Amino acid sequence: MVLVFNCKNCKSTNRITKRANDRVELSRFLGDTFVRECRFCGEKEKYSVNDVYATKGLWSLIFICTTVISIIFISTYLYDSFTEAKNVQAKFLLPIGIAIPPIVYFVWLQGQKKLIRNFNRFF
Ligand SMILES: [Zn+2]
Repeated sequence: MVLVFNCKNCKSTNRITKRANDRVELSRFLGDTFVRECRFCGEKEKYSVNDVYATKGLWSLIFICTTVISIIFISTYLYDSFTEAKNVQAKFLLPIGIAIPPIVYFVWLQGQKKLIRNFNRFF
């Protein structure tokens, strides 16, 4: 989960580097209003913690890539050990090995969705 706000001038999405579970927690770090400079147009504006919202951000993309790479590695390893060493166990582990990365991704995604919903709920 990343915290972002949209620039009042150019509407670009800017990140907030502070970590908070909800807007109450965020306002403890930043105050109810805070001044931020847009990293795209350089315009300094006053924002409210209510202008900040949570999103998955780039982590989602990184996680998907990691999941795909993990599947390729695990399946290649297990397939090789099955064909080369005639390791019969690998044949049974193959579907399990392939299933683990998507399960990890799914669990992570559900957790993120919960965090995002929790942050965006309170105004
Ligand atoms: Zn801007």
